[in-house]
Amino acid sequence: MSKTFKNKNFDRINLDWPLVQSELKLKLGTDVYDSWIKKITLAEEFNNYILLSVPTRFIRDWITSRYLDQILQTIKKYKKEIIRIEFKILENIENDRQKSYNLNKTNISKKVSFFQDSYLQYNRIDPNKRFENFLIGSSNKIAFEASIKVSENFSHYNPLYIYGGVGLGKTHLLNSIGYEMNKNKKVMFISAERFMYQFVKSIKSNDMVKFKEYFRNTDVLLIDDIQFMNGKEAMQEEFFHTFNALLDKQSQIIVSADRPPNKLSRIQERIKSRFSGGLVVEIQKPEYELRKKIINSKIEELLSLYSDKLKISDEIQNFISSKITSSVRELVGAINRVISFSRIYNKLPSLAETKVILKDLLNLNENNVTIESIQTIVCRFFKISKNEMLSSRRSRYLVRPRQTAIYLTKILTTKSLPEIGREFSNRDHTTIIHSVKTIEKLKENDPNMCDNINKLKNLILYNKENEI
Ligand code: ADP
Ligand code: MG
Repeated sequence: MSKTFKNKNFDRINLDWPLVQSELKLKLGTDVYDSWIKKITLAEEFNNYILLSVPTRFIRDWITSRYLDQILQTIKKYKKEIIRIEFKILENIENDRQKSYNLNKTNISKKVSFFQDSYLQYNRIDPNKRFENFLIGSSNKIAFEASIKVSENFSHYNPLYIYGGVGLGKTHLLNSIGYEMNKNKKVMFISAERFMYQFVKSIKSNDMVKFKEYFRNTDVLLIDDIQFMNGKEAMQEEFFHTFNALLDKQSQIIVSADRPPNKLSRIQERIKSRFSGGLVVEIQKPEYELRKKIINSKIEELLSLYSDKLKISDEIQNFISSKITSSVRELVGAINRVISFSRIYNKLPSLAETKVILKDLLNLNENNVTIESIQTIVCRFFKISKNEMLSSRRSRYLVRPRQTAIYLTKILTTKSLPEIGREFSNRDHTTIIHSVKTIEKLKENDPNMCDNINKLKNLILYNKENEI
């Protein structure tokens, strides 16, 4: 009897996947929805995880690296028990069949082809992000022009280092350069995180020779988000040598980061000085004119896409362009939401409704709330030092503040769990989940904890002038 009970899934709730998808559409915008979310189907549901199926491995990786957190969060709203997502790839079945059919079957050749596949897979250039649809204003003109020059005037500025805050167009520019140069050069476009991952994987599988060859054979190496490259000496060593080898053979290197070279932490001095040795350009926050331009073009694009008559009023356009100032991504996201609203309700939102739809974007400005400011404020509040907070010590008076800071980072920023882990002395993402859950539980039962969290939220969100 008990056996049958165990095997059967009595408390299985059927997740309303289309509902999750439509919520994600609102959250992530129609573009993202149409390109990615729509392609996911719910394959199977288990007690604490779900199996999603996607057409290709590339789609899985794209989704995993960008939207997994949001998908999981949304699913959890409807089914709390879900703690992870797994993917099934439909193309695999077909591919495996083909591979075993037409490949030379020695172990080595299999390994190599798999290995190269894994690079190619992350080397996809998004054809939707090109120079032609990058709008220019005074805040990004220099970065744009430098990018054009690099793609025309090979290796004139080497390396080109583009930096700026989140959502300002760095990846768009790198992608545009890749797209342009890919026409007649060998281009490698990879995020620093992926570079590290491949490096570690190559060491484990004794494939370092291939790793080196692969990177050193490119004409153009684009590395996105270099700030995520962290300390590992051996890897930095390899990176440095790859870098020099490429410069020696006049390959073009383009790097993006969220800060200037001298502010990079955990990266060797000699690498930073290499970065500074080329052309360093900044993308600043979009100025009012550019924000208007982006809003206009986005609206036009969406309207033509849906051949819709609904036109967002000037009042709302002005409201959005004056309130959302810190990132192009948020600006585009805001427009997507307003358009989604009007499509769902078949009417344009009023100004008051717009404020509701955009509430989180208007209140929380990701650029102002940084992990660092959260850590500083929480440390000051609990009267502990930052070193203590970031240490591995498990004394009770340190554990709670640390968990509190982690929890606040999770709810007040859009950082992913691994990103948060990194900022808290490279803690594992499971530790981060555990901290968030612990505080959520405590909040329910402990009014004092609730009070502290509210005070801290206020300090973090509104008392910015008292910081540091
Ligand atoms: P970053 O890499 O700096 O975080 P992205 O390049 O991912 O930012 O840009 C965020 C979003 O905003 C992308 O959808 C991108 O296409 C769009 N975007 C950014 N800047 C511009 C611009 N100047 N013109 C048009 N779209 C832009
Ligand atoms: Mg980016």
